[in-house]
Amino acid sequence: MAAVELADLLHYPFLPEAQKILASRGISVAGLSKTGSGKNYLDKAAERVVFAIDGKETYPSDISGDNISDIVTYVLARVLVSCTKDRRTVERFVRAEAKRVFSYLKQEQNQTIKSRVCSEFGISLDAERLSVLQYVEMAANIREEKWRLINREVSAGQVSISADELEILLSEKIRVYLGSSLPMNVPGAIEREFAPWTEKLLIKTQERTLAEFGAIDESAYPPCIQALIQGAAAGVNLTHSGRFALVSFLHLIGMDASQIEGIFARSPDYNPDMTMYQVDHILTNEYTPPSCATMLTHGICVSKDSTCEKVSHPLNYYRERKRYLERKRRLEEAKAKKAEEGAVSETKNEG
Ligand code: SF4
Repeated sequence: MAAVELADLLHYPFLPEAQKILASRGISVAGLSKTGSGKNYLDKAAERVVFAIDGKETYPSDISGDNISDIVTYVLARVLVSCTKDRRTVERFVRAEAKRVFSYLKQEQNQTIKSRVCSEFGISLDAERLSVLQYVEMAANIREEKWRLINREVSAGQVSISADELEILLSEKIRVYLGSSLPMNVPGAIEREFAPWTEKLLIKTQERTLAEFGAIDESAYPPCIQALIQGAAAGVNLTHSGRFALVSFLHLIGMDASQIEGIFARSPDYNPDMTMYQVDHILTNEYTPPSCATMLTHGICVSKDSTCEKVSHPLNYYRERKRYLERKRRLEEAKAKKAEEGAVSETKNEG
């Protein structure tokens, strides 16, 4: 196996070699907030997560002269997002880190390091073909039709791929790899110790969600989500995919766990403990809310309307419908204002 230098680990801090460096420097996570340098690392780790929540493409490398700072902040950032127990925060962090790694890998001049990193992902950067198994695994979350195995050229158990496609698959593989062990199980004592940093991250995520989706507007929910809410309120035992679609949708548009639990509380046979367990489990462990195609496969795409024809994801439906309702409301307000001004001027003329 190729030797990996410290400078390389700054770009690829997920490599097992990075963990060894931290251990060799005697840096441990517990008790970190009790020292000035530890607090400094935690601040930088939180800043790294904030960059990700804000959707910034790259987090700048530390230029303070502390040559292990980027590794420490990466490790701590993983702990902090795990402490949030918030799927949106975890997902944003993973996406940003994956983009960062991918961009370093694309620019990597050192072939030895390139091979080492790719071997960690189990892929060769020069591959023109992948085994069916590997292909299916890597393309599992890509929804476009052309990625379906049925639409690929397969020969002797190998799927042909172009260089551009390999890049897409590799970036997807990096995202899955970095997210596979998140959120981690963090001991309660560390969760409590890091709470001041975690709470700030949760506020940031909530602000970002609000900026992205605006205030929650029930009248803009897609038909599938409305049906699931009605089902939950009527005490229908939702399937796992139905419950997941509902909870992940509501969470991504800005509801917290207690607000979501409130939806299930409308049911006549509401069980608070069971609901809390199920909602928390989904918010902590599952990621991407299902697309329309997946909803259809699970039989929970129902009562489609004309907006559904323009979207491929319930979240896009919600955005689209919100924009439409907002425009309509503004037009009505402008009309009402004009009518009011007309009435005032008429009264003045009569006077
Ligand atoms: S098309 Fe999409 S948004 Fe519309 S009901 Fe089906 S899953 Fe929901």
